[in-house]
Amino acid sequence: MTLGVEIKRIFIEKGAEKYPMHKRVLEKFSDLPIKVIKQDITEHHNCSDGMDKDSLRLIDFQGEFLKPCPGTNEYICCGYQILHTGTNCPLNCSYCILQAYFNKPSLRIFVNLEQKLMQIGRILDSQPEKIFRIGTGEFTDSLALDHVTESSSIIPGFIKGRRNAVLELKTKTDYVQGLLKSSQRDRVIVSWSLNSPHIVSKEEHKAPSIEKRLKAARKCQEEDYLLGFHFDPLIRHANWQEGYRRAIDMLDKYIDPKKVIWISMGCIRYIPSLKSIIRRRHPNTHILDGEFVNGMDGKMRYFKPIRIETYRFINDLIVEWKGDKGGVYLCMESDEVWQKALGWSPGTSKDLSEYLDNRVRIFFNNKMV
Ligand code: SF4
Repeated sequence: MTLGVEIKRIFIEKGAEKYPMHKRVLEKFSDLPIKVIKQDITEHHNCSDGMDKDSLRLIDFQGEFLKPCPGTNEYICCGYQILHTGTNCPLNCSYCILQAYFNKPSLRIFVNLEQKLMQIGRILDSQPEKIFRIGTGEFTDSLALDHVTESSSIIPGFIKGRRNAVLELKTKTDYVQGLLKSSQRDRVIVSWSLNSPHIVSKEEHKAPSIEKRLKAARKCQEEDYLLGFHFDPLIRHANWQEGYRRAIDMLDKYIDPKKVIWISMGCIRYIPSLKSIIRRRHPNTHILDGEFVNGMDGKMRYFKPIRIETYRFINDLIVEWKGDKGGVYLCMESDEVWQKALGWSPGTSKDLSEYLDNRVRIFFNNKMV
């Protein structure tokens, strides 16, 4: 394991003590200071930069555990469902949206998740015709705290045997030990966020190199896990073409493209309030270099021709590697950008959803793996 993350203290929010996950986590950190606290936003907040990434909070979460990805109405979105397992992340990517998205500090783990999974299973069973593509990697990294929570061997249990659902665990780590030990593998996709080696080393602080990620991905593929990849956010930098070409060369070295269900691409985008946070927390970053325009959804993006050129270049490399264009999609882009960059477009969010649902049917329900 290569993640340079050190947890220094544990806070237990009132109510969390009664869950088995709480006990399991504490057993792993018996030498750390532990404090039971009220549910509170700023009290016990230890970090000058507001993120407090070296504290772990165990929480009895009272909100909704399964929610549709907020996406955006203005662009074509994929119709993903988010399984809310916790918030914030021990990695420290300069572009991370979570820096602006959540105003609550610390690495937050919802220790009552296990008790809610049956309930979520009933939601899936109530709509047998609908395919639920569910992911845990939107508000945290799916595996960065897996050695603490053991989620990878617990959560997939509720998906097992449900032909209308898959669970995608998205990560930038090489923490796959839990997955490799787990007997709960049915309908699980493990996916990696990839980038050019330059962006990985300069902007994805505390994350392993792309080579380490892909070695971990290969181990999962050898154990029959289906894989996904996400080139998101794509960031232009000096020699960006060479950087992304190297990333795809490494995919070619380690991964069998036939067992990859999907690969997404998304150019960097950010809500305007994130800019000052990035400048303050990552003064040496180059991700804000160049010109950005305000998109239809209020997020700052590269100009359309720049996005099209970037997607087209990387899509050509991916298609050359895979031998076909199946499963390659864009995250939050317009019909025009799809057409000009990939040569086709699903047209609407509903059709992109249907396209990805079909990938699930082909790979899982028709038992390609
Ligand atoms: S891995 Fe994802 S969630 Fe974690 S800091 Fe990076 S962008 Fe944010």
